[in-house]
Amino acid sequence: MSDSKLLGLGVGAVGLYILYPTICEWFSEMNSLSLLTNRKVEDEIEDYERHTTGLVNAGNFCYINSDIQALASLPATFGYLTKFGYLCPADGAAMAPVSSSLFYFVRELHRPVTKKRTISPEPLITAIEQTYKSRMSRRQHDAHELLHLLLETLQKEFVALTQKSRSNHDLEAVLDFPYEGTLVDEIICGNCHTHTEKASKYLILSVAVPSQSKTTLADLLKENTQPEYINDYACITCRVRNVMASENPRFKELQEQLADATLPLPADLEEQLPKMYSPVFKTQRFDSEPQILCIHLSRSIYTGSFAARNSCKVEFPLELSLPGKKARYRLYAMIRHSGTHQTGHYECSRRKNTGFWRKINWSSLFESTSTSGEVEASEEPQEPGPEESTNTDLPFPHKSKPSTSLSTEPVTAAQQPSSAPREEPARPRKQSSKQWWAISDNEVRETTSRAVQSLQSGAYLLFYQRV
Ligand SMILES: [Zn+2]
Repeated sequence: MSDSKLLGLGVGAVGLYILYPTICEWFSEMNSLSLLTNRKVEDEIEDYERHTTGLVNAGNFCYINSDIQALASLPATFGYLTKFGYLCPADGAAMAPVSSSLFYFVRELHRPVTKKRTISPEPLITAIEQTYKSRMSRRQHDAHELLHLLLETLQKEFVALTQKSRSNHDLEAVLDFPYEGTLVDEIICGNCHTHTEKASKYLILSVAVPSQSKTTLADLLKENTQPEYINDYACITCRVRNVMASENPRFKELQEQLADATLPLPADLEEQLPKMYSPVFKTQRFDSEPQILCIHLSRSIYTGSFAARNSCKVEFPLELSLPGKKARYRLYAMIRHSGTHQTGHYECSRRKNTGFWRKINWSSLFESTSTSGEVEASEEPQEPGPEESTNTDLPFPHKSKPSTSLSTEPVTAAQQPSSAPREEPARPRKQSSKQWWAISDNEVRETTSRAVQSLQSGAYLLFYQRV
């Protein structure tokens, strides 16, 4: 939870443990699920549903690992990055290293595995370091601070793509940046009764947790929209009226300029106006809603030079709406912090959502590189290999698909070409009663939504997606 900068001179060698499986290997493993002959399909599915991929912690990387697991858990991240990849020029991975490395993790973390598997977060670290031409410090950092950096970088890569593709008129209609929402501050002056509105964008909705034993997220969000009385607001209208009524000769020139409607307002008007404060009512309201709503429960308490962690229990729902808005959101991931303000550990709980991920026909996304059928089927999931180059082409989807037909829905089995390598199990799948993963770096276990919701005093980052 430290405020130190993420990027800077880091020290110490990091033992890398990178797995960079090819797409072919993945197809081989997917095929192997249906090729097993000595076990019932239900048993295979149960195995498949009982394991997922964790991330190596080669230092103090739990904050990176948790952010990766949470972002990759969101179907809308997959939908956005898939479209992004289609619309990206051939040098997409070089132009958008963070987007493409995040796509790599979306793919790898949802790869069907039947036993423990671990990969390295290094491709994302490398992408960030390449982008900012700086080495990330290997010390402990704040998962919220990194999340903000990641989302800002994704947004920069999105803007770069839209600027590069101005000739593509369909681009804006096809591709929305899913992580940005808008808040509007509404201010009514108690003196002049002027009503002003000011919009501000957010990538993460930061909510201050109160110093009390427990509260609910719904109450915290509602409090954000309650009218707030401020008695020292510098209302421009009041200040202009004050100057216009003044008989002080030093305002003569400004008065003439303001009185002449044909003249533009001085660029430094605010500086020229004498200080004056008015009482106002300020109300904040939610305006445009992001497709992915990241909520930060701010738990820092500052008393003088001392910073502490606020362990207030915050009850958070599996589904929510923002106050005054209709859209429904569903919780897909939660990052929990345990420890003190200065040090501690991050863990991510994420929804399994296997119904969604299993329907994706990854072969159609990567058809240019698919050589399935030439690869020997293997039952063994891939274990981390020795250090390999991270300069391998990062796996953005194949570009030949028509961009206008893209949707955030996965390509389903029914839409697969007849040559698709996947086969759906013939019998209904047995579902585990535990529909969430609890992930602490490379340690993964199944858990329930109720158990996730019980982690109220450590809940730190919540990831909701519009239903
Ligand atoms: Zn006023």
